[in-house]
Order: sequence, then C-alpha cells, then structure tokens
Amino acid sequence: MNPTIEHLARGVLDGGLLTREQAADLTAAGQADFEDLLYWADRIRRNFFGNTVRICSIVPGRLGGCTQDCAFCAQSMHYDTAADKTPKVLSDEEIFKASAEAAAKGLPHLGIVYSGKSISEAELERLIGLVGQIRQRYGIQVCAGLGILNQDQMNRLAAAGVSRYNHNLETSQRHFKNIVSTHSFDQRVRTIEAALKAGLGVCAGGIFGIGETQADRIDMALQLRQLGVDTAPMNFLHPIPGTPLGTMKTLQPRQILSIIALYRFLLPKVNLKIAGGRVLNLRDMQSWIFRAGCTSILSGNYLTTAGRAVEEDLQMLNDLGLEPA
Ligand code: SF4
Repeated sequence: MNPTIEHLARGVLDGGLLTREQAADLTAAGQADFEDLLYWADRIRRNFFGNTVRICSIVPGRLGGCTQDCAFCAQSMHYDTAADKTPKVLSDEEIFKASAEAAAKGLPHLGIVYSGKSISEAELERLIGLVGQIRQRYGIQVCAGLGILNQDQMNRLAAAGVSRYNHNLETSQRHFKNIVSTHSFDQRVRTIEAALKAGLGVCAGGIFGIGETQADRIDMALQLRQLGVDTAPMNFLHPIPGTPLGTMKTLQPRQILSIIALYRFLLPKVNLKIAGGRVLNLRDMQSWIFRAGCTSILSGNYLTTAGRAVEEDLQMLNDLGLEPA
C-alpha cells in the first residue's frame, strides 16, 4: 500500500482537508500507484456518502444561439458547429413533458439549463411561474442554470422553490482566460456567491481535458471548497468540430479516474457528479467512476451530446450494489 496515499486518506477520513502541496503529493503518488489511489478514494466515498448515488437529469430550457465564446461549447455563435445559431426556447408544455418523464423514471431532480450569458427578465418570470407547478404536479425538485444572475434574481428563484443553482467555474482562474473572453471568472464567482447567499444549494464544477494543468485542476477544487458548493459536476471534453477545442486529444480513462479521485480527496463531502463526456471518454470503464469517488451521475442526454438511457444507468448501479439516492 502506498504510504503517502494512505497517510493522506486517513487524514481526510479523520475530517482533515488536503492542502495544495498535499494534493500535489497525492498526484505524484497516484501516478505511481493508481490502484491504491482508487482504493482510498472509494473508502472516502463510502465513509461520507454510504452506498447511494444521486441521478440527475437536465432539460435545455434554451438551446443554442449563445453570444459567449466558451472554447469547448457547441452552442456558441462564435463557432461554425452543427448547432443552430438561432436559440430554441422550450415551451411550457415541453418543460412539463420533460418533468413528467423525469418523475416517471424516479429521478428526484430536474435541472433546467439555459444557453447564454444570462436570462431576460420576462423569461425569468415565466420560469419562476413554472417552478411551483412542476413541483406540485410531478413531485420533483427543480434546479436551474440560467447564467450570470444578480442577488435579487437569485432571491426570487429561491423564493419560487428552486432548490439548487448550477453555474460552473469551468477551470482555474488562471486558465479561464484561455477558454472564455466574453465574461470573466469573477462574474462566475459572484453568481455562485449570490446563489449561496439566497439560500440555494449550488452545483458548480467544471470541464477537464481543455488544456489545463494538474495545478489548474487543484486550484479549481480549492476554489470550489472555499466557496462552499454542495455539488460539483465534472465534465470531460467531448471535442465538438468547429470549436477551438474541436481537435483536442481526449483524456484517457485512467487519467479521468485519477482526476475524480483527486477531487474526492480534496472535496470529501461534496457530491461529485460525473456529467458530460462520460460515455465518449470512459467507454467500458464507466462503472469505475464510483470506485474513484463519484457520488452522482447525469443521466439521459446531455445538453448537446447524447448520453445513456436512465434504465442503463440504473442497471449499472444495481449491478454494482449501489442504490439511487
Ligand atoms: S458554455 Fe454556456 S455561456 Fe458558454 S458558450 Fe456554451 S451556452 Fe454559452
């Protein structure tokens, strides 16, 4: 057993938090002893989360036509991708239909996610009106990802019954400027702070395999820990032809599992949700994510790429002896 990994893991199991230097030590030790890294990440997962896994689903409230230039995104109007340049906004009926489908599959949360920097006041009011109806009719929790919002807008979402706000940091502050130029890292941080202040749960993570270094990964985790998010989505680049990252080499499955394990050590009590890029990048190793410390998955289709059927993911959990939360 690798003594460095075991020592760091026992510290986390005792309630300690890794420093930046310890995270670097863990990285080096994990490269030498991958199996030990996974073994201890799994122990930490089971210690803080038991045997349960949360399954989330999302519906794009608005799809495509985004004015922002995130270098990985199919929805940006800046790039020549297959996505429609005109945004498509879902009708009330379409959102109710997605809610009914989530409820029928036993999924307790539905995230309504909008493309774009932010949302208009009229659209925000429409959504606020829908939240109560969704909760009452279908008995599910509603999460929202509507871009950069101010404190008043967050307070209104919280008052309407939205349970959690999704807004990713995407990467470290240092690397962010290489990925996005149309809004700032600080705007993202302030949006997350506003959501927390409004009393909303916060689902904030990022995307990996976009040219970031291991130091960038560690810094983003430390920033998420400092902010106090309760859920961290982890996306792995699915290169979209036409975007600046369209020809980027994807991460290998073992690299991805090592990153998940690193985050389990750094964010021991945060729900780690494996989201976009799972199917493409992990292939036959998808079920290993739980051994690496994952406690949640995004099931069904992602925003712009195909995912896996919820039934397949439920079967995977059952086969592994895990239970949907
Ligand atoms: S990630 Fe969001 S803000 Fe960035 S281009 Fe895509 S839809 Fe727009």
